[in-house]
Amino acid sequence: MNQEKKQNLIRNFCIIAHIDHGKSTLSDRFLEITGTIEKRKMQEQLLDTMSLERERGITIKMQPVRMDYKHTDGNDYILNLIDTPGHVDFSYEVSRSIAAVEGVILLVDATKGMQAQTLAVLEQAQKQNLVIITAVNKIDLPNAMPQEVKKEISNLLAIEESEIFEISGKTGVGVKELLSEVIRKVPAPTGKEDAPLKALVFDSIFDSFKGVIANVRIMEGSVKKHERIRFMVQKSDAEVLECGSFKPNLVERAEILTGEIGYIATGLKEIGSVRVGDTITSSKNPALEILSGYKMVQPVVFASLFPQDADDHELLRDGLLKLRLNDSSLSFEPEQSEAFGRGFRCGFLGMLHMDILRERLKREFNIEPLITIPSVSYNVKLKNGGDRLVYSPAQMPDPTQIDEGQEPYVKLEIMTRSEYMGGIMSLLDNARGVYKDTQYLTAEKILLLYEAPLSEIIIDFFDDLKSITSGYASLNYELIGFKKADLVRLDILVAGEQVEALSRVVVKEQANEVGKFMVLKLKDIIPRQLFSISLQAAIGGKIVAREDISAMRKDVTGYLYGGDVTRKNKLLDKQKKGKKKMKASGKVNIPPEVYFKVLKK
Ligand code: GDP
Ligand code: MG
Repeated sequence: MNQEKKQNLIRNFCIIAHIDHGKSTLSDRFLEITGTIEKRKMQEQLLDTMSLERERGITIKMQPVRMDYKHTDGNDYILNLIDTPGHVDFSYEVSRSIAAVEGVILLVDATKGMQAQTLAVLEQAQKQNLVIITAVNKIDLPNAMPQEVKKEISNLLAIEESEIFEISGKTGVGVKELLSEVIRKVPAPTGKEDAPLKALVFDSIFDSFKGVIANVRIMEGSVKKHERIRFMVQKSDAEVLECGSFKPNLVERAEILTGEIGYIATGLKEIGSVRVGDTITSSKNPALEILSGYKMVQPVVFASLFPQDADDHELLRDGLLKLRLNDSSLSFEPEQSEAFGRGFRCGFLGMLHMDILRERLKREFNIEPLITIPSVSYNVKLKNGGDRLVYSPAQMPDPTQIDEGQEPYVKLEIMTRSEYMGGIMSLLDNARGVYKDTQYLTAEKILLLYEAPLSEIIIDFFDDLKSITSGYASLNYELIGFKKADLVRLDILVAGEQVEALSRVVVKEQANEVGKFMVLKLKDIIPRQLFSISLQAAIGGKIVAREDISAMRKDVTGYLYGGDVTRKNKLLDKQKKGKKKMKASGKVNIPPEVYFKVLKK
């Protein structure tokens, strides 16, 4: 078959759904129907490869799959499906996978309805003029409300309810029809075959034998084994060691053609050398323009990691390096702390991202580092000109050098029921949120738009939101830039000594309150010692809050019954001396979890 005819039979699509709405389960059914995986080899949620994903039931890393499908219309189609991550921390990955396809399936749980993050992804798909096919899932469940959910979708997207599919990924009802609709409605790719190679990198993985493997969509031209290729943004060259398709495991082919989705193994040893969103072209016959939409992903949440035992420093470094091979959005640099010795300052895309890293270090490397309080990165304009990015309190310049402090802000979209509007509004007042707009999606369902400082959103906000709304709220946020803020450094002194890892950068108007909260909280979570401990919060040397943890008095005289007062006093004296000695030796033993817990309400 000639190439043009073949390109006409390609359909590239992905599934957009909120976490748990059934994306992976639906993908499983597609794999079965197309015979890509034999039924007896089928495991549930096959495309979620990380054990962590299976356990938490969320998709972290996308896994593309090519399905060859003989349709009842007599044609042999190539269906490339990309399963997208659903969480806001990974929204850039979502945007790149959307850029790699011509159509999407919007999947909505019939018991839950539309969610804020899904809407955000959907907006990206609309912006790129993708064909959107909608389906209400889980109609087998007794509490499914397909009619209501269809009404909601129809209002949101301005489409007819009759165009919305009703399916069950679990039982398979309606799934074949949905796949036929994908073939009918999603356009075939249109790239020029004889143009110089242009391939969009929408993901990358690391393989210890094949090096960095770029997951690509060929937009124009084609790519062959042994060809020299160039990463246009990174301005680096490599050789195609191998290329091929995802079935879903890697299956080698001599060439990948225009319109196809596949992989290119590069042999490169650094995952950072291949960036999501980059354009691959041919070194010999390079394309003139880079594909649009490339973005350097910036970490938004920072925290320091220290080994609990100084001897484990190398182990931690090794673990981080290995994890970064599969996670190019993880960044870290060495850090030295008086209290904890040598560690690493790490940057994350969000709290979930950080949590996943912590969990993976534990599972895959058996390391449980101490993790300090997460913080956003601030921008400080200096009096002598120039900006400084501050992502650790130690980097905060002296107040006399600061011309203006700035903190990152986000645009927030909260989808909920109108009855919870009041509660959410007061929650956002406390989070320094600025109200923007309310949109009514249906009579009961609303979309609230706010702007708020990112620092208010990263710790407890989502948990608070869930409890206020009994779980009936979903949240999406997007960075919109920096805004002026009066920043100060808040220090915590335990038994008179500043504990570096508890220092934070905060906005001035909240500093006293945060200081009070932290010492109160520390009083609760630092275990009592044999001597009393003072807890102080200080701003620029001025104490703004104080609490004391009273001494734990071990009853050393307990076994002496009877009235020998002198012996009793002697023992108490001895105890006093011992406490003094301990106090003099200075160290208050602060268990590692304290640093993480101190901010949680
Ligand atoms: P994802 O997070 O969107 O990938 O969702 P999953 O495919 O992992 O599904 C989330 C949960 O919903 C799992 O427990 C599935 O078994 C369940 N589920 C998915 N589709 C259906 C369905 O059509 N009917 C029912 N009853 N359960 C489903
Ligand atoms: Mg999934």
